[in-house]
Amino acid sequence: MSSSSEDRISKFVDSVSKLRGISYVSVSSEGLPFKAAGIQRQGAEYIAAISHSLFTELQQISKEVDLGTPAWMKVFLKDNTNRIYIFPYDKFILTVKYDYVLDKLIEKLIENLVKGIRIICQHCGADLTFEVYKCPKCGSSLTYNVKRCWNCGADVSIKQCPKCGKYILPDGSKPGFITLLILKIKSIFSK
Ligand SMILES: [Zn+2]
Ligand SMILES: [Zn+2]
Repeated sequence: MSSSSEDRISKFVDSVSKLRGISYVSVSSEGLPFKAAGIQRQGAEYIAAISHSLFTELQQISKEVDLGTPAWMKVFLKDNTNRIYIFPYDKFILTVKYDYVLDKLIEKLIENLVKGIRIICQHCGADLTFEVYKCPKCGSSLTYNVKRCWNCGADVSIKQCPKCGKYILPDGSKPGFITLLILKIKSIFSK
């Protein structure tokens, strides 16, 4: 296991566990707890073991029926307000229990982790890969690399870095002069 994937997992766990509506985040390796937030040690051990065997079983079943390798599994709980997302990353298995209203956000944050996406502010170097951006129109929680709000459709292709306040594009790069000019003109006429 590379140290960079451990570093990414740490950042993911730290950011995600701070969100409102997250019950816990658990990371296991070979069925043993590696890192956890929101649960006590004993709970973490139990979740690590269960998640490991659940995912191993799922992989087995998928293989038996020629479905290939599963990317993730999602458990819909009977109370209908919470969901559990279990997925592999490198040598680890991650388990996130969250409020269903966070479904899209959790999916996007996990996608950023698994696909190795990095969003670094090119002005100040802030790592925004697992940070949450609030849509200025509807207040929905989004990831920094979206161009449009997935709730209201607002154009959010240019955002302000939460650390330095400067304008950035979805990949963290600096927008060009013309792009900024258009943004300024738009903001004048929308007042
Ligand atoms: Zn919105
Ligand atoms: Zn910045």
